[in-house]
Amino acid sequence: MSVYPLIFEPILKPRIWGGRQLADVLGKPLPPGEPIGESWELADLPGNESLVREGPARGWSIRRIMEQWGRDLLGTVQPIRGRFPLLVKFLDASRDLSVQVHPSPAAAAAEANADPKDEAWYVIAAQPGAIIYHGLNEGVTRGRVLEALARGEVASLLRRVPARPGDCFWLPAGTVHALGAGLLVTEVQTPSDTTYRLFDWNRVDESTGRPRELHVEQALRSINFEAPGPPPRQDRTHVASLWTTVTRLVTCDRFVLDQVRMAEGAEQSIPYAEPVVWIVLEGAAEIGYAGGVATARRGDVVLLPAALEKARMRAVERCVWLEVRIPSPGDLIGYGGQPPERPASPGKVPAPEGSPSQPRASAPPQE
Ligand SMILES: [Zn+2]
Repeated sequence: MSVYPLIFEPILKPRIWGGRQLADVLGKPLPPGEPIGESWELADLPGNESLVREGPARGWSIRRIMEQWGRDLLGTVQPIRGRFPLLVKFLDASRDLSVQVHPSPAAAAAEANADPKDEAWYVIAAQPGAIIYHGLNEGVTRGRVLEALARGEVASLLRRVPARPGDCFWLPAGTVHALGAGLLVTEVQTPSDTTYRLFDWNRVDESTGRPRELHVEQALRSINFEAPGPPPRQDRTHVASLWTTVTRLVTCDRFVLDQVRMAEGAEQSIPYAEPVVWIVLEGAAEIGYAGGVATARRGDVVLLPAALEKARMRAVERCVWLEVRIPSPGDLIGYGGQPPERPASPGKVPAPEGSPSQPRASAPPQE
């Protein structure tokens, strides 16, 4: 079997804080009448292994794809603890999520059964006034957190950041965070299910009649009190050509996140020799390759294998997607120092090779 662009079946998670936006906005096939909080789109964790939705590998797990396609899937990118090095989800929060933190590699090493996690949120839809909690306010110490927990009031210690569609928040390990009510986001993260819940708003879990478990000690050991509030947003850079605009949203050791916009009808080659994940937010695109054509539309998350041949993409409608790439070993020479320089992304290709059949007079779309 030769490689082809992979779209996986969503793994849907009922959550008391969930809603119906995953169906209404992103077209996910939700079961009726139940709030669904998460759709795991690309996951390679024990008990949560994505299954291929269509094509010759339909029904295969990402595990099996990893084993059978090997380097054709990953190129020079390294798995993390043997797993595919990204986890991609959509989250629909109709209520505030718990206040939590994920461990850094050093913090995880000191805990039992813990894996480090960095993550980023991109806001797809937001109700007016929606916020995220991102880090601690300046000067908040471990002691003040303990006092606040004893009083059952933690919100005043947390930095509140307004969240609007198109915002992207970087949440490195050690950053206390909570997704606020009224937000639909896509979450890109390293493959780990280690979450330490610091505070749950004094809520009672309706399904059990009891508060959900907290992990205060682990959370306090994982919080980076030295840098309690890293900048919620990294500086954006834009590269625009006539038909395509690429906006760099996040650069970190584990992934690089770009937003790409392409005009209807525009077409260009896909130049990568490494795996790339596309999260389609608007419109639809055809991805042509040596063996056929795949279509990706709003709500689809597509994994392009490293060895995809003669790959080209064409926006059948004006299309917006997030592109996620993984720093490869060559990029990691400066690991821990400066963010790695990235090779050109499609939008940085000097000019799209094709051109829309109906040239447009408008400038590239603005933020
Ligand atoms: Zn988190």
